[in-house]
Amino acid sequence: MHKKLFIPGPVEVREDVLQKMATPMIGHRSKDASALQRRISDNLRKLFYTKNEILLSTTSGSGLMEGAIRCCTAKRAAVFSVGAFGKRWYEMAISNNVEADLFEIEMGQAIDPAEVDKALSTGKYDLVAVTHNETSTGIMNPIDEIGEVVKKYPEVVFIVDTVSSAAGTKIEVDKCGIDVCITSSQKALGLPPGLAVCTFSQKAKERAEKVPNRGYYLDLLQLYKYIQKKDYQYPSTPSLSHMFALDYQLDNIINKEGLENRFARHLEMAKIVRAWAKKYFDIFPDENHLSNTLTTIANTRNIDVGALNKSLGERGFQLSNGYGGLKDKTFRIAHMADCTVEDVNELLRNIEDILGL
Ligand SMILES: *Cc1c(COP(=O)(O)O)cnc(C)c1O
Repeated sequence: MHKKLFIPGPVEVREDVLQKMATPMIGHRSKDASALQRRISDNLRKLFYTKNEILLSTTSGSGLMEGAIRCCTAKRAAVFSVGAFGKRWYEMAISNNVEADLFEIEMGQAIDPAEVDKALSTGKYDLVAVTHNETSTGIMNPIDEIGEVVKKYPEVVFIVDTVSSAAGTKIEVDKCGIDVCITSSQKALGLPPGLAVCTFSQKAKERAEKVPNRGYYLDLLQLYKYIQKKDYQYPSTPSLSHMFALDYQLDNIINKEGLENRFARHLEMAKIVRAWAKKYFDIFPDENHLSNTLTTIANTRNIDVGALNKSLGERGFQLSNGYGGLKDKTFRIAHMADCTVEDVNELLRNIEDILGL
């Protein structure tokens, strides 16, 4: 039996979207390929509220994260981490010989913009990396306030992991001053895994021009230059299947559902899960900075999450246990992409039934 996914990626993908992955191939050096890629970029600019260029990568989101921190740090990176995915930025920097410092915030707490200010005021850094929506703890960082701080430091490039939030909550890239904003196909965009997208500012481009060793496949400057010269075609063969599905899905998101409606639906689902969590368990992270795309629930009843998931599986549902050190202390319900209020209510009813709540 297929299990309906309530895990924070990969998410449940609609049947009509899945069908688009089976579109017959076209040559990646054709006019049709250029038109497809141009249309995707134009729509992604709307999704990210930006005038910046869009880059696509046939990797998961981690590929563009690695490319971004490597290509855009000339001096030293300041990585602000509130959980597992924040730490990943730091590991990527170190393993690419990029000088970096890790600023770790306690699990369940958000980044304090004043701490970012303090770090950047030392003048040591020319890049700051932040996770918008920390999928391990269910925190959504105040990206606009952090952006205001970063704007005080014109030499600092601002790169943001919005892998588990973009297309599920409003992220205004230009207003926040984000230079590289990254997401993956398999989260709130509601596609199968295998494609990543990012925005790429002029400032990011100018920085990358000063970084000598940017790697090859994930050299964002090379991708940028190539698509300018070759009418949106990419240097290596892209996942055209994902592009067909993304093109279709962006039309659904922007023109059929509408961005504001989509963000409102995500918030509505989040509110239902939060209220439910408070009734039967508790919410793990700081309630002033809750994620709109997933909820991390404190396992106050000490339930066996594995056993719950097994029973849910028999009924055709799957949720997620806690991440890393939070494995049994929390469990997570994702409410993102094309998941509906009805889907969420159905899941919660089944959990109540199984646990006898
Ligand atoms: C899932 C996730 C990632 C990793 O993305 P991949 O597409 O699996 O590489 C990074 N950051 C956050 C916040 C995530 O939720």
